[in-house]
Amino acid sequence: MYNPKSKHAEEFICDEEIRATLAYAKEHKNDAAELEKILQQAETYKGLDYRQVAVLLECDDPQWVTRIHELAAKIKQHIYGNRIVMFAPLYLSNYCVNGCEYCAYHHSNCAIKRKQLSQEEIRQEVTALQDMGHKRLALETGEDPVNCPLEYVLDSIRTIYSVKHKNGAIRRVNVNIAATTVENYTKLKEAGIGTYILFQETYHKPTYERVHPTGPKHNYAYHTEAMDRAMQGGIDDVGIGALLGLYDYQYDTVAMMMHVRHLEETFGVGPHTISVPRIRRASDVDTNEYQGVPDDKFNTLVAILRLAVPYTGLIISTRESKENRAELLRLGISQISGASCTGVGGYVEGEEEEEDTAQFEVSDHRSLDEIVGWLCGAGYIPSFCTACYREGRTGDRFMTLAKAGQICNVCQPNALMTLKEYLMDYASEKTRTAGEKLIEQELSHITNSTIHEKTIANLAAIERGERDFRF
Ligand code: SF4
Ligand code: SF4
Repeated sequence: MYNPKSKHAEEFICDEEIRATLAYAKEHKNDAAELEKILQQAETYKGLDYRQVAVLLECDDPQWVTRIHELAAKIKQHIYGNRIVMFAPLYLSNYCVNGCEYCAYHHSNCAIKRKQLSQEEIRQEVTALQDMGHKRLALETGEDPVNCPLEYVLDSIRTIYSVKHKNGAIRRVNVNIAATTVENYTKLKEAGIGTYILFQETYHKPTYERVHPTGPKHNYAYHTEAMDRAMQGGIDDVGIGALLGLYDYQYDTVAMMMHVRHLEETFGVGPHTISVPRIRRASDVDTNEYQGVPDDKFNTLVAILRLAVPYTGLIISTRESKENRAELLRLGISQISGASCTGVGGYVEGEEEEEDTAQFEVSDHRSLDEIVGWLCGAGYIPSFCTACYREGRTGDRFMTLAKAGQICNVCQPNALMTLKEYLMDYASEKTRTAGEKLIEQELSHITNSTIHEKTIANLAAIERGERDFRF
């Protein structure tokens, strides 16, 4: 029986209700009256429920698909403006006791080198990331209580925050580690993490159990209820996601929307971010076994999420190609990773180490400078902002501001000031020229005169060598 407030995974993600929803969507395929009603609701920035999302996902009439895309682009522009938040993953350890069939780190893969970074190696990786210009990291590890216990992760977070190389600093560490206990989530919160990220992979229980045949991750309920424990442990910014293509993407998207509703109704705040990784080739992984998601369906799915959860950050990684990333940014993506290494120690050791220890293959191999220059040229503001979490704007405090339409008053100036820091400290001449031009143009979009003046003063101070301004 479906119950969004239940503590039990199979009641708040209810297979029967998902199937009924998908059947309803098929009955209303390309139903103009229904689609009109849904788009009118989306246009009020109030979001959509899982049944409405299912109807949009089912739609394949080109005219309606174009309308969905155009509305998503409008909502994206209204709420997020032109800023795109930048981050990089940092892989600490690829030891893993789980048997996830889609991941190169699965424990029986003997073709990759197992490695865990020492605290000194972490310092070197973080220095390399700071020298590229990154300020925000997503920390990643495999699950291994012996080789990679929580104490190691906590030590690593302390190390990351302590490294200050030249003008560099990592100002926000998001953490993507295995589902754990309330007590451990409290420890992560106390260590000063930003968002706790955990992907469901698939919400379809039989597929979930099949692709996770061994290890603690096999336990569907423990994994699916992890965000409840994270919230109970005091973490109010959580990031969810599904590995799209493992199972039917329509099923998983509807289920993910149920997860959003569960968190909203139980804890008063939905996920801070949703990631939309697609299954990729990797060492010892046969991607032909999975259903996959074609580009056109994937792009529409992103647009539909933008309508459904307008205030939730949407994230793609370097799994997506340069060409497709551009369209996805227009349709709703608000955060991207740049110049990512998906291997352990890859930022210092380079490509060879990455190939030996990587979790999956990346599609976008550009440097951060190239990506920043590309974004500026396309009219987007690459933002290295980490202000909200440092100002205590997390959880429902953040969502209240976002829903009141006030968050853009701080996002825009913060994006411009952190871009200015990047241009001063790390950019090539070409990127700096494109970035300075963009800052000039985008300053006019700050409508509050006090913030506008203060931003201009702060930009001048950054030019003189001062750093770390924020609203
Ligand atoms: Fe381990 Fe995570 Fe890879 Fe599964 S997805 S094998 S838990 S690193
Ligand atoms: Fe994100 Fe807050 Fe910075 Fe906006 S101001 S980019 S919401 S951290």
